[in-house]
Amino acid sequence: MIIGVLRERFPGEKRVAVVPANVPGLVKAGHTVRVESGAGERAGFPDSEYSARGATITSLAEVLEAEVLLGVRWDIPPEVRDEILAGIRPGQILIGAWDPLSKKGDLLPWVEKGATIFALELLPRITRAQSMDILSSMATLAGYRAVLLAALTLPKIFPMLMTAAGTLTPAKVFVVGAGVAGLQAIATAKRLGAAVSAYDVRPAVKEQVQSLGAKFVELELPTQAAEDQRGYAKELGEEVYRRQRELMTQVVAQSDVVITTASVPGRRAPVLITREMVAGMQPGSVIVDLAAERGGNCELTRPGETVVEHGVTILGPVNLPAEIPHHASQMYSKNITTFFLYVCKNGQIALDSEDEIIRDTLVARGGQVVHAMLREPAG
Ligand code: NAD
Repeated sequence: MIIGVLRERFPGEKRVAVVPANVPGLVKAGHTVRVESGAGERAGFPDSEYSARGATITSLAEVLEAEVLLGVRWDIPPEVRDEILAGIRPGQILIGAWDPLSKKGDLLPWVEKGATIFALELLPRITRAQSMDILSSMATLAGYRAVLLAALTLPKIFPMLMTAAGTLTPAKVFVVGAGVAGLQAIATAKRLGAAVSAYDVRPAVKEQVQSLGAKFVELELPTQAAEDQRGYAKELGEEVYRRQRELMTQVVAQSDVVITTASVPGRRAPVLITREMVAGMQPGSVIVDLAAERGGNCELTRPGETVVEHGVTILGPVNLPAEIPHHASQMYSKNITTFFLYVCKNGQIALDSEDEIIRDTLVARGGQVVHAMLREPAG
C-alpha cells in the first residue's frame, strides 16, 4: 500500500508519526512510504534521513494521494485542518490519535468524508497490543517531564544534601494517580532524590508504588470496585471524591510537590485538590496537574497556563510529549507502524470485527461512526 506521513498541523505539535528507523520495516513488507517534506524536522529527523531509509519526500498533495495516512494528532483546528480534509477520499485509511471520547465533534467532518478511521487511544490494554499502545508511551514521557517541570519550578532542590553549609532535606513529592504517567513520575522523582509518596484508587497499584521505593499513602476509601475489567479506574462519585479530598488534605499540605495524573477514561478528571487545600500548602510549593487537558485534578488549574495562588504554583501543561519530540516520535512511530503492520494483511486493511484490536480501534467507515462507545449518547 502507499503510506503517507503528514507534517503535523496541531499548534505546538513537534512530533512526527513515523521516524526514519521504521521506514525499512514498512518497505520490506511491500509498502511505499511518502513523507511530507519537513514532517520530522521539529523532532530532529531531517528529510535526508527518511530518503536514506527508503521513503520519498514529497508535497502535501502527493502525500494525500496515499491509501493510508499516518498522523499523530488528528484533532486539529479547522483553520489548519481544512487543507488536509479537502484531500480525503472515501475509503482512505486514517490512523492516529483522535481523542474520540472527548472530541467526537472534531471527528465528524472526517467521518463524513467516508474515511476509514482508526483511533489508537481506544486500543485494548492487553498484552498483545502493548507494542501499539500510544497512551502508555506518551504517558510515560509526560510523567517524566512533569517531574522535571516541578523540579525547575520548586525553589528547593529534590535530593538531600549534607554540606559544610548545612543539611538540605529532600523535597517531598506526592503523586496522585499511579497509572503509567504516575509510576514514571514516581521513578523520576526518586532518581532525583526526592522523598516520594503516592496514592491511587486501584488497590493493585500499591505494590507497584512500593516496588519503586515510594510510600503508598493509605486512605480509607471504598475502592474495592474502583477498577473496571480493562484495568482502568471507574468513576467513584462525588461523595467518594469529597472524602478523598478530606483525607488527602494533610498529605497535600505537607508536600513540596504534588503531581496529579488521576483520570477516568472518557470522563472529566475528578477534582481532588481544592482551592482550600492549595491554601494549606507552604508558599513555594508546586502542583503539576497532568489531568489539565481533562479538566484538571486541581480546582485552580488552567490548561496550558501557570497559575500562582497563595504562593503555590500550579502548572497545567498540555501535550507534554510534544516537548520531548524526538523520543516521543520514536515511541509513537514504533506503536503506529506495529499497529499498521498488524491490521494490514496481504496488502489490505483487515476489518475483522472478531479481532478486538481492530474492533476497539475502528471508529468510522463508509461515512458512519461504527464504534459502540461513540454511538452512545455523550455522558
Ligand atoms: P489513566 O490515565 O486513565 O489514569 C491514571 C491513573 O489515575 C490510574 O492509575 C487511575 O487508577 C488513577 N485514578 C483515577 N481516579 C483516581 C482518584 N480519584 N484518585 C487517585 N487516582 C485515581 O490510566 P493509565 O495510566 O493509562 O492506565 C491505567 C492502568 O491500565 C495501568 O496502570 C494498567 O493497570 C493498565 N494498563 C494495561 C496495559 C496493558 O496491559 N497493555 C497497558 C497500559 C495500561
